[in-house]
Amino acid sequence: ARPTEFGTYEESVDIALVVKDCLVLVEHVLSQTNIIVETDLKKAPLVRINPGELQQVIVNLLVNAAQAMGNDGVLSVSLSQTEDKGQAGACLCIGDTGPGIPDDNLDNLFDPFFTTKPAEGTGLGLSISQTLIRREGGHIRARNRNSGGAAFSIWLPEVLVD
Ligand code: ADP
Ligand code: MG
Repeated sequence: ARPTEFGTYEESVDIALVVKDCLVLVEHVLSQTNIIVETDLKKAPLVRINPGELQQVIVNLLVNAAQAMGNDGVLSVSLSQTEDKGQAGACLCIGDTGPGIPDDNLDNLFDPFFTTKPAEGTGLGLSISQTLIRREGGHIRARNRNSGGAAFSIWLPEVLVD
């Protein structure tokens, strides 16, 4: 691990291992529902990030997906090697079969304190996630799936050997 200018410790991280930890963490929430989890974790490059921070980002996406679906649905989690603007990297996509995101909200999702959840929402999850992912040279994007539901993808560049 090495410290960054931001005072956090980064490592070469295998996203698949972090995803597996996150699925264990949200298992108690999902087990109270009929939500099915489908994973497709392909071989992907290592990325440089603080693993605890990546865990927070992924857990928020999984919880958001579960909250959007309620009691029934399919939560899909896929990891793959993906180029972005010619740069090698890893892409993690978390999709759900919930109602999706109203077009009017797509531009505001990542704003601090934007939430449509009356009680339990802080509206900080996506905002903090975007800050963390951008700091590593990556990006996080939201879209609606053709089949219905929302999909969020995180892309991070391949770690460079030092
Ligand atoms: P919070 O979960 O506290 O509301 P987030 O920043 O995690 O804050 O999410 C912001 C908002 O984005 C949510 O309140 C919701 O309106 C929308 N959102 C996030 N994930 C999904 C999803 N999977 N499906 C539909 N809407 C979503
Ligand atoms: Mg959230």
